[in-house]
Amino acid sequence: MMGPMTPTHPIPPDWEKIDTALLDMDGTLLDKHFDDHFWEKFVPSSYAIRHGLSVEAAEKHLMDLYRSHEKTLNWTDLDFWSEKLGLDIPALKKQVEHLIAIHPHVVPFLEYLREAGKKVFLVTNAHGKTLDLKMEKTALRGLFHGIVTSHEIGLPKEDPRFWMGLRERIPFDPAKTLLAEDTEAVLVSAESFGIAWLVHIAKASSARPSSASTRYHSIETFREITPDKKGSS
Ligand SMILES: [Mg+2]
Repeated sequence: MMGPMTPTHPIPPDWEKIDTALLDMDGTLLDKHFDDHFWEKFVPSSYAIRHGLSVEAAEKHLMDLYRSHEKTLNWTDLDFWSEKLGLDIPALKKQVEHLIAIHPHVVPFLEYLREAGKKVFLVTNAHGKTLDLKMEKTALRGLFHGIVTSHEIGLPKEDPRFWMGLRERIPFDPAKTLLAEDTEAVLVSAESFGIAWLVHIAKASSARPSSASTRYHSIETFREITPDKKGSS
């Protein structure tokens, strides 16, 4: 059953064999359009004004800068970016908070998990300040048994050692755990740790076409893995 060539368990999952769900936030539960718009449009235009540059020059400069910090904790550290860009990033996020939105079918899925007695954890690379803004805006916090950020662990989820750190914080059996993620590199790292049920979210942003994984089972919405309510057909 085990081995590098063994595919992960089939999706839709056999919920009877799963007792824990680990769920990513941005792009998975929440519309990634907020984040894309914020970093690709709103921050460059604010940066251009602040530093007297053209929007094009600011975009070019920031895209290069972003790329150099991808897959590190700096990437999601708002204090790092505030300092680096000379902008109040949390205050700017607040200005576009109307774009923060829950993906379709997320709430019924979370309610199913609750009713079915699964442990549900939000596990995110997001910075505490982003997390607070988003939980305040969406009122989802009460639907989780816990929330863990990679800043608390000290490693991004793309690093396989992240999952060991996570397991020291929350008890979970990888063989009975499902992870839903829109970032394929995170699924790869979770798979190497032995998390058995891996779901890729293809439709991360409402403003972009969906992009299926070639390696993991992709879903468009959580409707596809939410069982019908007992008694209904
Ligand atoms: Mg994500």
